[in-house]
Amino acid sequence: MEKLLIVGCKKAMDDVCIGCSRCMVGFNKRAGEFERYKNQEDQIIGLLNCGDCPGATIVTRLAQMNLWNNPMQEKVTKIHVAPCITDHCPYKEAIINKIKAKSGVEVIEGTHPYKPDNIFA
Ligand code: SF4
Repeated sequence: MEKLLIVGCKKAMDDVCIGCSRCMVGFNKRAGEFERYKNQEDQIIGLLNCGDCPGATIVTRLAQMNLWNNPMQEKVTKIHVAPCITDHCPYKEAIINKIKAKSGVEVIEGTHPYKPDNIFA
């Protein structure tokens, strides 16, 4: 069973991207980058923000999340980097590289596929 962590932009998560709902719905529907999870037992166990610009604290935040989940024996097995980082963050390369270098698990760029094309059309 996979235990997923989504990492996103502090300035977007549950703020302009209300409720992080598109990531949640995308996972529930196994859409976008979540298509790979056909096993219905796979779970999201966390939504973690980058820690704010320029994402300097992301590695510490990953370590803290791991500590926080130790009592429940919950371990992240894959990390998804959300579109609020992959599509919009000026520091995305550094953030993603740090996550890849330090997490020890597979890092996947992308989550849900629900990106608007023509907002006012
Ligand atoms: S570093 Fe990038 S992902 Fe984090 S708050 Fe700033 S813009 Fe958002």
